Amino acid sequence: MIKELHQKLINKEITSVQLTEQYFDAISKKDADLHAYLTLTKELAIEQAKYVDEKIARGEEIGIIEGIPGAIKDNICIKNVRATAGSKILDNYIAPYDAGVISKLKEAGAIILGKTNCDEFAMGSSTENSAYGVTKNPHYEERVPGGSSGGSAVVVASDMAVWALGSDTGGSIRQPASFCGTVGLKPTYGRVSRSGVMAMASSFDQIGPMTKTVEDAAIILSIISDHDEMDATSAPNFGKKYEDYLTGEIKGKKIGIVKGYLEGLDAGVKKVMESVIEKYEKLGAEILEIELPNAKYSLPTYYIIQPCEVSSNLARFDGIKYGMRADDKKNSDYNPDGLPKNLLETYLDTRAYELGAEVKRRIMLGTYALSSGYYDAYYLRAQKVRTLIKQDFKKAFEKVDLILTPTAPTPAFKIGENTNDPLQMYLEDIFTITANIVGVPAISVPGGNVEIDGKQLPVGFQLMGKWFDEENLLNVAHAFEIS
Ligand code: GLN
Repeated sequence: MIKELHQKLINKEITSVQLTEQYFDAISKKDADLHAYLTLTKELAIEQAKYVDEKIARGEEIGIIEGIPGAIKDNICIKNVRATAGSKILDNYIAPYDAGVISKLKEAGAIILGKTNCDEFAMGSSTENSAYGVTKNPHYEERVPGGSSGGSAVVVASDMAVWALGSDTGGSIRQPASFCGTVGLKPTYGRVSRSGVMAMASSFDQIGPMTKTVEDAAIILSIISDHDEMDATSAPNFGKKYEDYLTGEIKGKKIGIVKGYLEGLDAGVKKVMESVIEKYEKLGAEILEIELPNAKYSLPTYYIIQPCEVSSNLARFDGIKYGMRADDKKNSDYNPDGLPKNLLETYLDTRAYELGAEVKRRIMLGTYALSSGYYDAYYLRAQKVRTLIKQDFKKAFEKVDLILTPTAPTPAFKIGENTNDPLQMYLEDIFTITANIVGVPAISVPGGNVEIDGKQLPVGFQLMGKWFDEENLLNVAHAFEIS
């Protein structure tokens, strides 16, 4: 899709301003129902598009993404643009700088249409935790789009953007991609700079592309992956163009299926998985069974370490440094006039009124697990299990090149279905969370559809690759897509 649009721009079949306006038209027609955007950046987009059109008019060469419109999840900062991360506490927050990935995209000439809805601070699997209302699944509007990057999945699936960025801490790019029928890539931890994404659980967070095709995901990854001195965990970059590795040739590739993973699955998802396996066999891949004995502890491990990191990272939202303060809305639990009387009351009132229930739950869980006396029993033990899971992956990758699993255990579920049952919601991430625990790259690719209430709901499958082996991962995903 990106390559075709690029060709149209250089052939002068369309201008970037026209293309950008087409997308704003689509947004004005569809987004009142779908509610995928929180903020539109029309002025910025048109200004960027004009600049590209002038370049083309002067006969200058343009880059692959130049002049092509996309969208950014609202927890990623764009200078002078509102960034709420789906939270009321940042309702009035205007980012003072560009995230590393935004600098890269701007340098490459990409057009930014706006910011997309997400679960508050990216905690959730359905966008229902956004303080700004739920985003709807374009395939069936009574159902969730997944989350937390639900808005980004929806804008791509419903042609309200060509590409989008999401963030993935436990599955937030891949699960909504699966629910909406798009491609979603979580790169290797360290591949893409985290500077300017609002830190949620820093040892898991990664930014990645959400697109219509694997090739588009590769193109976006080539642009946003770079070493960034603003992120101490960012890896060296060797200027790889991932799209150049998409040969579609995968004969002899060894793909691992995890023992036990296909049992107890939703019948529709199971069927899709069986057809995916069959197709890979036809393409000449070798399917092997592998074991990840400690992966069954992934969910509890994540839900100890993740809240610990959340409790630390979200301490900065205190009503003093950023965003809303209790005084602004005259909300106080302590004083009838609604005004906190000292610093501690300001902290307590601001956080009590401006943070949502799920975020508070994680902060409390994390604070508890880190408190003295419990640290060893919970946090430290979970870190040890994390190492065991990593060792399982190292061993598995001696035998196979990639690991194939479902992306999510179910297709998109009904709005409201899991909101009263946090554990059920957490279980949505059972297949995706392990990649964040161990840091490997993982992609969700549309695998097929299931029919529910007469509607076709997409189901994705997940491939996990070796650390920093995005080229193989993308190529094997691409082979499926083009066959
Ligand atoms: N659903 C998971 C959570 O709530 C993962 C979220 C994410 O990847 N940002 O923590």
